[in-house]
Amino acid sequence: MQGAGVSPGVGTGPVRTIAGAVPEPPAGSRHGGDAGAERDSALAALEAVAADLEERGERAAAAGNTDGRDVLNAQALMARDPGLADGVRAAIGEGTSAARAVFEAFGVYRAMLAGAGEYMAARVTDLDDIRDRAIARLLGLPVPGVPESDEPFVLVARDLAPADTAVLDPAQVVAFVTEEGGPTSHTAILARTMGVPAVVALPGATSLAEGTRVLVDGAAGTVLPDPSEAEVAAARATAAARASALGESTGPGATRDGHRVPLLANVGGPKDVEAALANGAEGVGLYRTEFLFLDRAAPPSDEEQEEAYRTVLAAFPEGRVVVRTLDAGADKPLAFLPAPGEEPNPALGERGLRMMRRHPDVLASQLAALTRAAAGLSVELQVMAPMVTDAEEAAYFAAACREAGVEHPGVMVEVPAAALRARDLAAEVEFFSIGTNDLTQYACAADRQVGGLAHLQDPWQPAVLDLVVPAAGAGVPCGVCGEAAGDPALACVLVGLGVTSLSMSAPSLPLVRAALVRHTLEECRAAAAAARAARSAGQAREAARAHLPRLADLGL
Ligand code: PEP
Ligand code: MG
Repeated sequence: MQGAGVSPGVGTGPVRTIAGAVPEPPAGSRHGGDAGAERDSALAALEAVAADLEERGERAAAAGNTDGRDVLNAQALMARDPGLADGVRAAIGEGTSAARAVFEAFGVYRAMLAGAGEYMAARVTDLDDIRDRAIARLLGLPVPGVPESDEPFVLVARDLAPADTAVLDPAQVVAFVTEEGGPTSHTAILARTMGVPAVVALPGATSLAEGTRVLVDGAAGTVLPDPSEAEVAAARATAAARASALGESTGPGATRDGHRVPLLANVGGPKDVEAALANGAEGVGLYRTEFLFLDRAAPPSDEEQEEAYRTVLAAFPEGRVVVRTLDAGADKPLAFLPAPGEEPNPALGERGLRMMRRHPDVLASQLAALTRAAAGLSVELQVMAPMVTDAEEAAYFAAACREAGVEHPGVMVEVPAAALRARDLAAEVEFFSIGTNDLTQYACAADRQVGGLAHLQDPWQPAVLDLVVPAAGAGVPCGVCGEAAGDPALACVLVGLGVTSLSMSAPSLPLVRAALVRHTLEECRAAAAAARAARSAGQAREAARAHLPRLADLGL
C-alpha cells in the first residue's frame, strides 16, 4: 500500500486502530422503567472508567512517566466525583436513559470548566474523554482514543487529533499510519518529533484488520501487510544505512570530486517552500504556476499572482528560482483557458506554450507579475516556457520575456524535436530544463495517464537518455526537473550526461545529495555511457549501477 512517507524509519507490529468518535446519546432517550438497575449500570460504568484510568496511570508511572500518571489519576478523580454521580442519579430518576444521563451530567461540569479561564477550558477535552469512555461502555461501543496493547503496535487512524497523541507512549508506538493528513499534518509533525516512522494519506488505511502485522517504511511511504522475516530484516538494514548516510548529507550539491551540481526543489506554490528549505534546496528548479490556478473559473488577479510569486522568490535570497509559465492543457486543464475544441489526443494538442500563444494577454500579465514580484529581491529569477517544440517558439517566448522585463528566459526540453534541435533553441534562450516526464511520454509515445503503459514511461529508456545528450551539450546550462532527477542512480547518470542542475520534490533531495557526493564525475560519466549502451530500461539501470558502487551505502 502506497501513501506519503513523512517521517523516515521502519516499524513493524500489529495494527491497532483508534476508534471513531462516540455518538451523543439522543436527547430525550428514556430507560425501560427500572431506574434502580439503570442507576447501577451508570455508576458501574463510571467506576470502571476510573479504575481503568488509574491502572493505566500505574503502568505509565512504572514506565517512568509520572506526569502521565498524574494526568490519568486526575481524570479518575473526575469520574468518581460525587456531584457528578448525583446528577446522573437525578436524571435517571426522571426516566432518562443511563447513557443520556451521563452525557447530561458531564454537560454541567463541561460548561463550568469552559467558562473558568484558559487553563481550565483546556481540561474540557479530558472531561469529554471520560464521558465518552463511560458512554461507550454503556452502549457496548469500542472505547475511543489510543488503543490498549500488551505489545508495541502500529497506530492506524483516519487522522490523529492532538488529544489522541498527548498520552502516547513512544515505546509502545512503532509507527503511525493515517488515511488522511499531509507532510505538515499534526501526525507528521508529531511523528518526526518523536522519531517514529509515519505514512500519511494512505488510501484504505482504516480498513486494515485489527491485529494484522504490517511493515511500515516511513521513507518510502509504504505499508506492507503480513511481511516475511526476510522482508522485515531487509527493510531495517536499508533504513539503518540510509539514516546514517543521510545524517551526513548536507550542504550544496556536488560530486565526490567537487563538481558542483545545484540541487533545487520542485514547488507548486508558497505552501511547498517550507519543505524545500527543510531539505536543503539551493533554490527552486521548477515552480509549477498552473497549480495555483487549477479549479478556478476566472483568471487570477495580477495582485494575487504577484503575491504568490513573491513569497516563493523571497525564500531563496541567495539562490535561483525557475518559474514555469502556465502549463495548461492536456492533463492540467484550466477552466479560464479552454481548449479550442474537442482534441482527440490532448497530450498532442494545445498545451503549454501553444496555449499561451492563443492567449498572449495571459502570458504577458503573468510575466509582468513575475517582474514586479522579483523587484528589489536578490534572488535570480529565471522564467521558462513548457512544451516548446522549435527555435521559432523559443524566440517568441524570449521576446515576450524581454518585453515584460524578464531577464533570464529559458525553455523546457520535453518534446523530442526540441532535444534533437537543441542547438537552434540554445541560440534564442539562456537555459534549458529537461522535463523527463513529458520527454519520456513523447519519446516513447506512451501517454502519462495510461497506467498500463508504465514500462514505457520509464526515463531509464535508453532513447530518453540519448535525447538528454544534445540538450545538455547545446552550450547553455541544462537542468533536469522531471521525476528522473529525484532517482539517486539516475541523477548520477544525468550528471554524467552533462546536466548542470537537478530539481525534484523536496523529500528526494537528501538521498540524491548523498548519492552524488559518493561518486566522482568520472564514475557518473561511466555510468551514463553504460546506461546508453544498454538495450532496455531495465538493463540501463543495471549497467549504470555497476559504476555507482557506493549507492549500496544508502541501501539502494
Ligand atoms: C516534466 O514533464 O518532466 C515536467 C517536469 O513537467 P510536468 O510534470 O509538470 O509536466
Ligand atoms: Mg511537462
